[in-house]
Amino acid sequence: MPWVRRARSIVLELNPSEPTAAAGGGLAAPPTTPTPTPTPALVPRQRLEREREARQEAERRLQIALWASGEGIWDWRSEDGALRVDGLLVDGLPLQVPLSSASDVVGLAHTEDREALQLAWQLHFKGSSDDIDMAFRIHHGMRWRWLRVRGRALQRDGNGRPQSISGTVKDITVQREADHALLLMAQALSSTRDALAVVDAFWTIVQANQSFRQLAAAPVLQQGEPLAKYLELPAEAGMQEHWRGECMLSRQDGQQLPAEVDIRVVAEQSGQDRCYIVLLRDISEQRRAAQELERLALRDPLTGLLNRAALDQEIGRRIADGRGFALMFLALDGLNAVHCGFGNPAGEELLQMAAGRLARAMPKAFLARWGDDEFVAIGPHGSGKATLGEMAQRALEAIGEPCAIAGHDIKLTPSIGGACSPEHGTDSQTLLRHADAAMFAARQNGCNRPVVFHEALDSGSQRRARLHSQLRADVERDKFHFLLQPKVDGAGRHLGAELLMRWSPDRIGTVAPAEFIPIAEDIGVFDRLGRHAIRSAARIARELRTIDSAATIAVNLSPDQLSRPGLVDMALEACRAEGADPSWLELELTESALVSDIGAVTRLLVRLRDRGFCLALDDFGTGYSSLSHLRQLPLHKVKVDQSFVKDLQTDPRSQKSLEGIVALCRTLRITTVAEGVETSAQFESLRATGIDEFQGYLFGRPMAKEAWFEQLRRMNRPGSAAGHGGG
Ligand code: C2E
Ligand code: CA
Ligand code: CA
Repeated sequence: MPWVRRARSIVLELNPSEPTAAAGGGLAAPPTTPTPTPTPALVPRQRLEREREARQEAERRLQIALWASGEGIWDWRSEDGALRVDGLLVDGLPLQVPLSSASDVVGLAHTEDREALQLAWQLHFKGSSDDIDMAFRIHHGMRWRWLRVRGRALQRDGNGRPQSISGTVKDITVQREADHALLLMAQALSSTRDALAVVDAFWTIVQANQSFRQLAAAPVLQQGEPLAKYLELPAEAGMQEHWRGECMLSRQDGQQLPAEVDIRVVAEQSGQDRCYIVLLRDISEQRRAAQELERLALRDPLTGLLNRAALDQEIGRRIADGRGFALMFLALDGLNAVHCGFGNPAGEELLQMAAGRLARAMPKAFLARWGDDEFVAIGPHGSGKATLGEMAQRALEAIGEPCAIAGHDIKLTPSIGGACSPEHGTDSQTLLRHADAAMFAARQNGCNRPVVFHEALDSGSQRRARLHSQLRADVERDKFHFLLQPKVDGAGRHLGAELLMRWSPDRIGTVAPAEFIPIAEDIGVFDRLGRHAIRSAARIARELRTIDSAATIAVNLSPDQLSRPGLVDMALEACRAEGADPSWLELELTESALVSDIGAVTRLLVRLRDRGFCLALDDFGTGYSSLSHLRQLPLHKVKVDQSFVKDLQTDPRSQKSLEGIVALCRTLRITTVAEGVETSAQFESLRATGIDEFQGYLFGRPMAKEAWFEQLRRMNRPGSAAGHGGG
């Protein structure tokens, strides 16, 4: 260590024969032969003068050297046992503790160091050691400081006992701590199982641990090798204090491994060059797992074919590629009947069989399972109608062969439609929709003849036909869900929500209830959907009680539902099954339901009211409006139609009629609700007119149950303001 060398040079500069006044008897090597002090009378004045100057110069240099090295000097004399310490700086400050005897030193020393201190002293005292050189801790300024003390007996008496011992002492706490840190680092480096290397400012390896050598397959990795031999790092890696990223590790056995690399700058103190600690982690296993997961995520577990996500990716790639391709849509008719007739395992087996046959029939196509009994195949780059025809032919042959399932020979009928990109679509959705429309047309044609998309297939009647068939299938699979739209009072407090049905069939997108409900009624599947709605409303009303809300759920009843027998029992059964009280539900009916047989509807409503349900007349103010209905029917609420609300600002007659409705409802004790409130201005004038409740985008669009519940919870928190105050 440099400071040790410095200390030696001090020794050489001292005049060994002459004790210096300031140092209280110099440190340094003992005199070889004691020289008698020359008599001044015998020495010429000039020589004396020179010697004095030389001594002063030596002393000055000693002081400078000690000051530069941060050392102090000490000496001990046997005659009185006194210890003197001069010039020692501890933690940069002069000594603050008394060190005037050897026992002072021992008393202040750390208990763990005392024995060693005493031993070193005794050994030297007895002449068993040439000098004292040790480090120990003393308590100084509230902390422990490390001192290095070195010294030597200058003179011994006839028994060999020292008459005085002198030396230097230095606060080495900072070096000790740095050494300790380095030691720890070195230990950590060698013992860690992480692959670590230290590289210098030029990215050459200074040291690499065992794990690093193992990972790099470089058992004889040499110091001074460039790190670039193993890792190709991006330029930014050395520019930050800390960099982390992934790169390839070139192993010396020729293998390439993906590795996570962590690089930190260490030691960049004054004068010292920057160096880096490079930590490597083999992530090949992790990569493999991720790839496997990705592979699984893109596979249909039942058939092992690629799934819809994989298909989406592929279509995206093909479209970006721009060379064009043919896309075939295939649905297996008759599979549902197998599920129903022979059970799901038989249906699944049949599906697997069909998938296998298709894969073998079209080895060059990109084949994916789209839906339950639907498949999509994509032809090679640049393929067109000719390929479509070819693929369809192969598929028809493959599927046309009967399958032996559950002891029966079952024959499926495929319906095949096709579309070509870019001709029939330049985005995935359009292309699939067109191929699907072609498939649907093929199914309607009824014979095993594939259809290629053409514009006429995209018309309104085709859409309706498509909705018909899709609706039937989706009712079976319960592919409908509900949103909730809040209803508030004049202060913006949430009183409840209306349940609104949603349907988003594949490839068609969201279809408005106004479009699909009449179709569902037409084809006689709405009954099931209506039941589903009431049951859901009862469940949500029950859940509201668990979050301490007294809010009600409004559910719409279609005219068709009202005309069917058994509605009351069905509604009661739904409440019973879900544990809901009928009064938690509001049943909304439209006036169009009243045109057929108002007497029968009235009797039905009376029964519902008597069972506790709240009854609301929806869309009031449109078509069939009649104030006499309000008097005649056992209603709790009237919902003024949104068209009415829209005209409010512009048409004074609307305002007048509204005032009339409100006044009549007041006398009949019917609550009024305004629908479609979109602006604060509408809200204000409705409120001024005396409307009781409000619903519309101003207070909230139809939203998922979770979102509305969250709003309710927030509003119920103490100190929170009510919902929308209406601006
Ligand atoms: P509705 O009962 O009159 O429902 C209110 C309709 O107005 C909803 O349309 C709602 O989204 C919309 N709306 C709400 N606030 C505003 C607003 O501020 N501005 C505008 N422009 N519109 C607003 P949606 O959901 O399309 O429902 C349409 C109709 O479908 C409903 O009219 C209802 O008659 C029927 N419907 C919806 N769900 C069901 C159901 O589960 N069963 C039955 N039977 N009918 C349903
Ligand atoms: Ca409604
Ligand atoms: Ca309405």
